[in-house]
Amino acid sequence: MSDQPINRKAVGIDLGTTFCAIAHIDAYGKPQIVPNAESERITPSVILFDGANAVVGSVAKQNAVAEPDKIVDFVKREMGKSKAQFSRTFGGKVYSAEELSAIILRKLKNDAEKYLGEEVTDAVITVPAYFNDAERTATLHAGQLAGLNVLQIINEPTSAALAYGMDKLDQNQTVFVFDLGGGTFDVTIMRIEGHHIRMMASNGDHRLGGKDWDDVIVNWVADEFDKQHGESPLLDLQSYQDLYNRALTAKIQLSTRSRTTLVHSYNGKSVKLDLTREDFEERTRHLLEKCKAICEIVMQEAGMQWEQIDRVLLTGGMTRMPSVRSMVAEISNRPIAEDVSPDEAVALGAAIQGMLALLHEEDRTGEHVINQEVRDQFSAGDGSLIKVTNITTHTLGVVLWDDGKVEEYVFSMIPKMTPIPVEVKNSFGTAKANMKNAVIRVVEGESTMPSECTPLGICDIELPPFLPKGSPVELTYHYNENQVLEVVVEAYGRTSRVAIARNTGLSDNELETATADLAQLNIS
Ligand code: AMP
Repeated sequence: MSDQPINRKAVGIDLGTTFCAIAHIDAYGKPQIVPNAESERITPSVILFDGANAVVGSVAKQNAVAEPDKIVDFVKREMGKSKAQFSRTFGGKVYSAEELSAIILRKLKNDAEKYLGEEVTDAVITVPAYFNDAERTATLHAGQLAGLNVLQIINEPTSAALAYGMDKLDQNQTVFVFDLGGGTFDVTIMRIEGHHIRMMASNGDHRLGGKDWDDVIVNWVADEFDKQHGESPLLDLQSYQDLYNRALTAKIQLSTRSRTTLVHSYNGKSVKLDLTREDFEERTRHLLEKCKAICEIVMQEAGMQWEQIDRVLLTGGMTRMPSVRSMVAEISNRPIAEDVSPDEAVALGAAIQGMLALLHEEDRTGEHVINQEVRDQFSAGDGSLIKVTNITTHTLGVVLWDDGKVEEYVFSMIPKMTPIPVEVKNSFGTAKANMKNAVIRVVEGESTMPSECTPLGICDIELPPFLPKGSPVELTYHYNENQVLEVVVEAYGRTSRVAIARNTGLSDNELETATADLAQLNIS
């Protein structure tokens, strides 16, 4: 969080796998979507590299077939990977996932500044609730690279619930947020009660989304093509991109029509295939089953029955698909909130969170600039600001030594579903006599086996000589609102403190170089 004075413009950004949206709070305290330079309310998350130009959005998307080698899309699925695990090279420069996301964010920022006629300085950026530490940090870096002061990284379902609940804060209710986007799936249970929006449980799959439905059509058409002509149309990038676009159109058409026809030509040969909604639903049943299973898991984790849910919120473009809507309606048997725009709710909620962050900051600094009319929109009757509480979506643990079993195991410091911010302190004994250092290995994951968890980092402390086995070492985990972890180890008057060195693509040095490199690009 920054401590600059408040004459700033905060926006909320939904940085989606396939589309992004950006919103602000208007002069009356209402969240509004900011259209892009093409006058669209959502911007495709697609980049076209063309020399020193990076074109983001619909123009890039339209060129995807003609120039597939200059296109990047679905970057969100790669967030949190190091440059060695994922990168794309254009004009001799190697871009990481966060650099590519930064280019998209820069386009959103530039366009918003033009539309609003003022500089956009601050942002709240949303991530799937199920994003892990590395994915969140990569998103934070992307925002910084785009020249934004990132006030907070917040969960998409929390954001959607904020947008939905803003004008219903006096109606206590429990909402089930089902968020199926282009590349990620999240389900979250939220409680709105007395101007407090509280996350109760969350689960998801960050590699399940609309693209998987698209791929089913792509692979089916490719197989039929192969059967008829004895060759795969997927080996050529241009043909693949063309087929992909046709599959996407077919999927969207089947949301309103009961049948569609797909034609694909490659190498002078073509196929023409009919696809009914029924057939498509059958072919993608396994994907819907995955969604259904995750819904049931989150209900179990929350220890709740469907009757305790008052409303279901559907967000993410894929919830326009009739089979998705009917599956949710069927398993939940609860009313679906119809006043939520699946494409816009997340960005609107992020703008609300941005304004809340600025108002909280005003209260901290005592410097009041935001007008009372706006403040009132974000306050309870007693003048207190709306409160939002998130929970952890992954368990954070430490690797310890089990003397009895003679093996390492993971001790859970902060269990999944703990409200944040949180601080947890525990004391451990050294594993052996005369240890020179206590090395704390911090991991994330639900297993007690270290090999099944994701290593987050190490916090090391030097110990005095000749300590017996079992000498106490104090360990504290602080987990903040952005779900970023700080670890403190204390022993014998010594303290070691690390903001966990996260496993993301960029070091501080690289961040600086990347910022300079991005400044060379013309982003439109
Ligand atoms: P999001 O990441 O929330 O923007 O979700 C976008 C996903 O929703 C993409 O996979 C789109 O193809 C899909 N989508 C958008 N509109 C529709 C529609 N009418 N029917 C089916 N899928 C859709």
